[in-house]
Amino acid sequence: CGVFGIFGHPEAANMAYLGLHALQHRGQEACGIVSTDGERLYSHRAMGRVQAAFDPQALTSLHGDRAIGHVRYSTAGGSHLKNAQPIGVDWARGSLAVAHNGNLTNFEALRDRLEARGSIFQTVADTESVLHLIALSQVEDPEGRIADALGQLEGAYSILFLDERRLIAARDPLGIRPLCLGIIEHDDRTGYVIASEPTAFDLIGARLVRDVLPGELIIIDEGGMRSSFPFRRAERKMCLFEYVYFARPDSILEGANVYEVRKALGRRLAVEQPLPPGEGEAVVVPVPDSGVPAAIGFAGQSGLPFEMGLIRSHYVGRTFIEPQQSIRHFGVRLKLNPNRAAIEGKRVIVVDDSIVRGTTSRKIVKMIRDAGAREVHVRISSPPTRWPCYYGIDTPTRAELIASTHDLQEISQYLTADSVGYLSLEGLVNGVRSVEAPARVGTPGGSTPPGPDSYCHACFSGSYPVPFTPSSPPRHLR
Ligand code: 5GP
Ligand code: SF4
Ligand code: MG
Repeated sequence: CGVFGIFGHPEAANMAYLGLHALQHRGQEACGIVSTDGERLYSHRAMGRVQAAFDPQALTSLHGDRAIGHVRYSTAGGSHLKNAQPIGVDWARGSLAVAHNGNLTNFEALRDRLEARGSIFQTVADTESVLHLIALSQVEDPEGRIADALGQLEGAYSILFLDERRLIAARDPLGIRPLCLGIIEHDDRTGYVIASEPTAFDLIGARLVRDVLPGELIIIDEGGMRSSFPFRRAERKMCLFEYVYFARPDSILEGANVYEVRKALGRRLAVEQPLPPGEGEAVVVPVPDSGVPAAIGFAGQSGLPFEMGLIRSHYVGRTFIEPQQSIRHFGVRLKLNPNRAAIEGKRVIVVDDSIVRGTTSRKIVKMIRDAGAREVHVRISSPPTRWPCYYGIDTPTRAELIASTHDLQEISQYLTADSVGYLSLEGLVNGVRSVEAPARVGTPGGSTPPGPDSYCHACFSGSYPVPFTPSSPPRHLR
């Protein structure tokens, strides 16, 4: 999912709309904006993408100079409008809306506890439990109530709250999901913006200031911005998969340009998994769009030509995010077509960022072969995806992850490839660090350079940085 927040701009809802548009890659299932003029909250939520979900009338009904917004891609909870965010509540103390990216690993335990105390849940989304925790908190002041509630959460959250007076942003102590802070100038006024990725800032003319730090709670109101660290301290565990696939390449996360990171991963991949010796002309072909930067790195490092051997139609969305399996299969054909002239008679090195189920990759290998390639070598700029993510990326169960049930040779057979090569975990971590560490020197929070343990890589390694309580094993492990 993606979140966006703005405080202190006369066109807050319009800016939120544009910000969400620039975060659309983070979720296309549903979206919403809640705004406030300081008197009450205004809300509009709808299924589908931002452009279709908001018309001018919907936007003009979102009054005020503050807003939060959300693009959803379902991890917890089904695909229904009632699970769209921001989620809002009205209670004795006023109104409150919340927008969340991440996944709470202790959600089921929290819900059991809350329901035993009389809470009635309206959605099946884990995010709703935060609102109940806030409502039940014994702490008197509103900011303290939110800190109290957040302190009871486990898992990943980059989360925004809006009430009549303030915009509140928090990032979990491990900093698993990204969150950035920026400034937007309008007339003589300086407003604040917060977003999952800084791509949302570029479009609205805002400036990236820094990442929200792991465990940081930021409160913005008429008096300005305040920052605190009310949660237990922990070592940062930023999601590696954001760098591999999820974030937009023009984003800067933790100081690192994601495009530069992906090229670095492609260069390492070329060193670790070069084209085996053989006869004939070789070309490096990306699976667009997600494989393009890594393929550029691979081609540069190996000295082999980069060719657009697969052409993508831009009139279909990211197929993986479509929630129904039937649509996903259909999507591959809709989305990619081989460019025969670039690959016929050649040894083709197809570079992609990841393999999940393997179904798309298999079709791609077939298409390239049918278009006359002499050999097809698959190279992947991340390690085998063997474990589900419990922190907000929608990976399937272990049984469906091809690398969890098949070894390298079997994967190669299934894909009908001449060879398959993945980047090592060490190569991935060091590739990300090689861009992030120098970039962070002198930036706020950059005084501690990222170490090899500063990242979550559970979907590759099975080493989960947030342990599960034995009483509530995650759904995929049951
Ligand atoms: P597969 O061959 O496993 O069916 O599909 C692999 C493709 O899925 C890659 O091109 C990768 O970029 C893409 N992909 C799209 N969305 C996701 C996602 O949310 N997670 C993962 N791991 N890969 C995704
Ligand atoms: Fe990211 Fe993978 Fe960790 Fe999930 S398990 S947070 S996708 S690195
Ligand atoms: Mg892809």
